[in-house]
Formats: sequence, structure tokens, C-alpha cells
Amino acid sequence: MRKRYLMAPGPVAVAPDVLLKMAEPIIHHRSPQFSAILEEVRGGLKYLFQTRNDVLVLASSGTGGMEASVANLCAPGDTAVVVRGGKFGERWAELCEAYGVRAVNVDVAWGRAVDPADVAAALEAHPEARAVFVQAHETSTGVKHPVEALGELVRPRPETVLVVDAISALGVYDIRTDDWGLDVVVTGSQKSLGLPPGLAMVSVSEKAWALAERSTQPRYYFDFRRERKALGRRTTAFTPAVSLIIGLERVLARVREVGLPALFAHHRRLAEGTRAGVRALGLSLFPEAPSEAVTVIRAPEGIDGQEVVKLLREEYGITIAGGQAQAKGKIFRISHMGHLDEWDMLVALAAVERALHRLGHPVELGRGVAAAEAWFAGAAA
Ligand SMILES: *Cc1c(COP(=O)(O)O)cnc(C)c1O
Repeated sequence: MRKRYLMAPGPVAVAPDVLLKMAEPIIHHRSPQFSAILEEVRGGLKYLFQTRNDVLVLASSGTGGMEASVANLCAPGDTAVVVRGGKFGERWAELCEAYGVRAVNVDVAWGRAVDPADVAAALEAHPEARAVFVQAHETSTGVKHPVEALGELVRPRPETVLVVDAISALGVYDIRTDDWGLDVVVTGSQKSLGLPPGLAMVSVSEKAWALAERSTQPRYYFDFRRERKALGRRTTAFTPAVSLIIGLERVLARVREVGLPALFAHHRRLAEGTRAGVRALGLSLFPEAPSEAVTVIRAPEGIDGQEVVKLLREEYGITIAGGQAQAKGKIFRISHMGHLDEWDMLVALAAVERALHRLGHPVELGRGVAAAEAWFAGAAA
């Protein structure tokens, strides 16, 4: 008799109306009916990404969008600057290696944001760099990297593009693709958009198109040029994830209806209310520049963060996330993305309190919940 809650930073809980929409009979993708849906999605994505450029939709997880970016922008033997401050920064470096691209890694301690001066120094030392790869929000540590400042560094370099993994940032807080000079922005369906996993979305600037057109890197399924051509014919190059795109149309219609500012305010509110509870419990946040996508909590001295996660999942029916790699056992992460609201945040805090109490950490049950409740009540005035 357990109700289940999904509060991990991806995949996230999907709203019932979106689930029902995606349960409708499959339509053929080479049909006027599907083309009309794709056109709606095309407009909705431009609004979400804050760009005038087309956003390509790929049938893959978010990593497919990252891989496509490397494959289309960098040729074997090219150099790229990689901001590496967590699990997903490491993924950029691994993708570069897989495609024969020489990665100049700007290593950042986990939990810290990159200093733009370090990226500037790497670009000075490697003016030949084709791309700078970075996360807007490094989900493994909860840190926001200063992508706007990086945009300023890269914009004056005609042969270098800024590629931003915004898989857990876009739709959570303000990411101004065109205004900030973010040449390529990648997102996925199963984070802030609140859809099931399976779609990657990638915006591509004019500067990035020029690199994609002339790169000698072999590519086939993830060929930006092929997808752009197809989009011009109001279709996709290959069979798209039809149901997910139907769900995406629904989600994007809602995004336009409520507007980006309200969407960002929603995530900020969940994050701040949750953090009021975290502080009241005497716990601290792991990242120095926390994002609104997820609250990353340092496990208290003597408590294994993995045990907290396990208790929540196995006994309380609540899925949050633990730490990965070097952060394993040291942190646990509560998502603010997906079909969640402030009441769910109170549930998460109650469960964390209960787990810490069970594991022998001194907590006053209800203290974090009370502080979060007070925060939500005050801010609601
Ligand atoms: C979730 C996530 C990814 C990986 O996406 P998949 O859909 O699992 O391939 C990459 N980068 C960031 C920042 C993420 O949050």
C-alpha cells in the first residue's frame, strides 16, 4: 500500500494529461497531421530555447544530443576546451576522445562553478579550439556554471563555438540562447520538460552551422545537416518518437501559456522552500552556486548518503538520487523538475527527516517540514 513518488533529477514524474495524450493511437509520421504537430513543436521550442534558430529533435536520450554536437562540430584532430567539474563534464571529455578530438580539460573541483578566467586562459593557450563544451547545470553536483560569461569569451572568436549541455537547466531557469551567444544548446525530454526519456533537442547557431557544414567527421544518424533538411520539409530524417513528440507538443503549449518567467519562478520557489527546510535541519548544501533544478544536500558526518536514498526508495516509496562517482555516499539530491509542487517538497523533507532519524542522526522530526511550510506560507502571501 505504498504510493510512489519520483523525485530524482531525471527521469521525472510526468503529468497525467501528458501521459494520456501520449496514449492516443499512433499516427503516421509522413502525414499532414504529424507535420502540423511538428510545426507547433518547432515554434514552441524556439520560445523555450529563446532562439530564432531551428531546434533539431532527435530520438535519443540527452547524451545523443551531446554526441551529435561533438560529431557535427569537431573533426578528428581538432582541439576543444572542456569544462570538467562533475560526471557530465567528464562525459564531454569522453565523447571528445571517442571522436578523436583533443580535449583541453579545465578541471573544476566537484561542487564548484568554473571560473571564466580559467576558460579564457585555455582559449588563449589554444586559439585553435573549435569548441568549448560545458554544462549550464552540472546535475551531479548541483552547480550552475556561468554560461553567460563564457558566451562573452567565445562570441568574438569566429572559429570557436560554445556548446552548452542544458539538459537539466533549460526550462528551469533563464538560459538566453541567442542573447548570450550560446551556439549549441542541448536538452532532453526527461528533465524539466516533464516527459518520459527518449528525446534530445539541440539548437544550432549560424556559426555552428558553418562548422557542421565543413567538418570532415563521419556521421550518419546524428547528422545535423540531414535533420535540418528534413525540418524544411516539415518532417524528420528518420522515424521520430511519435508519441513523445505528441507529448512534447502538449508540454510546449503549456510552457507558452504560463510563460517562461512563471516557469522559472515555480522552480525557484520549490528550491528555496526546500532549502529553508534543509537549513532548519542543520544540513548544508553541496554546491557553491546551486541551481533551481535540484537541491543537493551534503550527508551529515557519519551518515552514508546512499543509505538515505535506499531507505527512501525501499521503505518509503520515494525515489531521490544519491551521489555519483567521487560524490557517492557524500550527498543526496532532491529534484524540483517534473510534475511536482510544494506539497511534494514537504513529503521529501519529511522522508529525509525520518531516514536520518532511523539512521541515528539527531534530528527533531518535523523541524525541516515546519521551516519549509513556513517559507511556503510566507512567500505565498
Ligand atoms: C541527465 C543529464 C545528462 C544525460 O542525459 P541522458 O538523457 O541520461 O542521456 C547529461 N547532462 C546533464 C547535465 C544531465 O542532467
